[in-house]
Amino acid sequence: MGGTTAGRGIPAGDLRLDNLTKRFGAVTAVDDLSLTVPQGSFFALLGASGCGKTTTLRMIAGLEEPTAGRVLLGERDVTRLRPYRRPVNTVFQSYALFPHLDVFENVAFGLRRRGIRSVDDEVMNMLALVQLDDHGRRRPDQLSGGQQQRVALARALVNRPQVLLLDEPLGALDLKLRRRMQVELKRIQTEVGITFVHVTHDQEEAMTMADTVAVLDKGRIEQLGTPADLYEYPATAFVASFLGQSNLIDGEAAGGGGDGVAVSAHGSRFWVPAGRARVARGPVHLGVRPEKTHLVDSVDRVPAGCQHVTGVLTDAAYVGVSTQYLLRTAWGGELSVFVANNGAAAALPVGTQAAAYWDPRHAFLLPREAGGPARSTPTRDQPVGAPS
Ligand code: ATP
Repeated sequence: MGGTTAGRGIPAGDLRLDNLTKRFGAVTAVDDLSLTVPQGSFFALLGASGCGKTTTLRMIAGLEEPTAGRVLLGERDVTRLRPYRRPVNTVFQSYALFPHLDVFENVAFGLRRRGIRSVDDEVMNMLALVQLDDHGRRRPDQLSGGQQQRVALARALVNRPQVLLLDEPLGALDLKLRRRMQVELKRIQTEVGITFVHVTHDQEEAMTMADTVAVLDKGRIEQLGTPADLYEYPATAFVASFLGQSNLIDGEAAGGGGDGVAVSAHGSRFWVPAGRARVARGPVHLGVRPEKTHLVDSVDRVPAGCQHVTGVLTDAAYVGVSTQYLLRTAWGGELSVFVANNGAAAALPVGTQAAAYWDPRHAFLLPREAGGPARSTPTRDQPVGAPS
């Protein structure tokens, strides 16, 4: 980490977005966004298509002028600086390498443009960093997609930017290569210590690499935190559903007494520890992750201290590491339960009565907007860590 600015406690190179807003006519793409990206960290902006990720990145790069707000690097306000005057480089999904230049010259380009004559050491260091030191004399069309992407990365990093912006840089790669490049990118970022701001709609990609993830929706931050924070204790139903799957049961919280909050839902009573409840009273979603929900064929087998709902198994999908069950409850909702295929339990046939139970310490409680859509079914996106 760099030094701090005297008296203010703000590290010299932190990237700060200060009430940043961008409107395109009637569309508010970025809505009063404020956040700090610590110098040297790997930060991910995660959200669905159209949530404002790219627009945010373009304002940091200087390619888009904010309607309101500021972009700061440490104490320096760079909001009005032209893109090439900012200590910021961008790597896009399309690599945009110079096709007529070989790999070495593609990487050397930025240095030569700055009038630097002896570029060999620096370029070779960068090629070694991205593990392409023996590919310097190839042209881009003689490289695989992943190799081209690494050249693009080396070409950006050779300029030693203060901040590197990555706009879905792995989007064009196939799944296996993407996973490998995620590990590579993280290694490279740790090695160079430059601030990376990575834009993606892929939750697993964000969680694999980033120290901090900001989940965006409609141009606003829904939640910001470490991947584990976001996953283990989501702040909103949107985050609970966007990052992996969640079972969200609609209920009413009856107030916090002592160490927990009582919830009534569909005629049953539940309990959530105070530290896992974001609200103590009123309409709520009681949430529990499918992999923290367990199945037994009789309520008698629900362990002491756990809470449960009963129903009928309507689906069992074998996905290798786990079998993913759907339990239809008496009130017509569905709960998703992932049972690890570790040989510990026999498969339960579809059509049988079963109880899904969880340890209340793994549940979470979220406010439910009055009049919002009723939820008693699991969200359907791909779970984190499941094969895709
Ligand atoms: P994706 O993942 O699809 O790239 P995104 O999260 O990066 O999406 P943005 O490209 O930032 O989203 O767009 C945010 C919103 O702003 C969208 O509704 C988009 O249609 C709108 N938008 C973006 N650029 C412009 C523009 N130049 N003119 C008008 N509207 C725009």
